[in-house]
Amino acid sequence: MQWEQLTWADFDQAVTDTGVCILTMGVIEKHSDHLPLGTDTLNVHKIACMAAEQEPAVVFPPFYFGQIYEARCFPGTITIEPKLLLALLEGVLDEIGRNGFRKIIIVNGHGGNRHLIPFLAQTMLWQEKPYSVYVAERISADRQEAWASITETDYHGHACECETSVSLANHPELVHMERVPDEPALPLGGLSHLLGNMSGASWYANHPEHYAGDARTATEEKGRQLRELLIETLVEFIAAVKADETLPALEAEFFGREDGLAR
Ligand SMILES: [Zn+2]
Repeated sequence: MQWEQLTWADFDQAVTDTGVCILTMGVIEKHSDHLPLGTDTLNVHKIACMAAEQEPAVVFPPFYFGQIYEARCFPGTITIEPKLLLALLEGVLDEIGRNGFRKIIIVNGHGGNRHLIPFLAQTMLWQEKPYSVYVAERISADRQEAWASITETDYHGHACECETSVSLANHPELVHMERVPDEPALPLGGLSHLLGNMSGASWYANHPEHYAGDARTATEEKGRQLRELLIETLVEFIAAVKADETLPALEAEFFGREDGLAR
């Protein structure tokens, strides 16, 4: 169910029936020359909606704000000031909670959020909330072999064979296969002399054109198969979150002990 498509009465019923809201997180950024700016958001939201049809949950409207400072040098990128971004995310989670959801699943659609979202989850111990946050994994370990067997290329990352294939399955009208670069994009290693280093420019140092992989072998059929693995993973996770009583109990215990410190 998509939040923005429900009437108020149907929404209210959906909160009662499912108890779970899914917040998908993508960004607006360059995806090589052949995919639209909203690729991450479009794909992750579509996949969440398809999963929520199988294991009912309410999917929050497409959310386009995340960590994408490394694409600020390209037209069309939308970035938010770091401290405002965190405040915005907390505000969105609180608003989902205020509407009655006690469990919120975050599904990430953008590699550049891989540090932000776990940090956001960790902030849930800063202050007690009336809801619990769960972060879904993209694809379960037992499906990774199947994933690899569908693809022909070994190096993936951005606008690659996988992402382009899934985009072809989800919204073929937005994919420009004739603009796929003639050469694959492998990491340039601009900062490889600093072993183990993490910098704001780490991604840019490897992929200054915001392309990582080789989309020439992407097809709609591969995209359907890859998408199915993503959906299956999420369907299982939604069911597990619905059944979970442990995280809310641990949080209640934690904040109970913290309250004890103040006495
Ligand atoms: Zn992407």
